[in-house]
Amino acid sequence: MSQEIANKTKKDIYYKCTHCKDEIFGNTHKKLIECKCKAIYIDGCEDYVRVGGDKGDYEVISK
Ligand SMILES: [Zn+2]
Repeated sequence: MSQEIANKTKKDIYYKCTHCKDEIFGNTHKKLIECKCKAIYIDGCEDYVRVGGDKGDYEVISK
């Protein structure tokens, strides 16, 4: 049900939940942050980010 993807985070990357439209900043300083509806979670720092949820559950946004 959930998958984890390791990405490099160089830009300011946000993950937007497609269900509740919550936007979570990719660098959460190693804290696990869920969106409002808990469809996805983000756990990231300067070196990596883990994203929980299915592909269609979130969009990746660079700002
Ligand atoms: Zn959500």
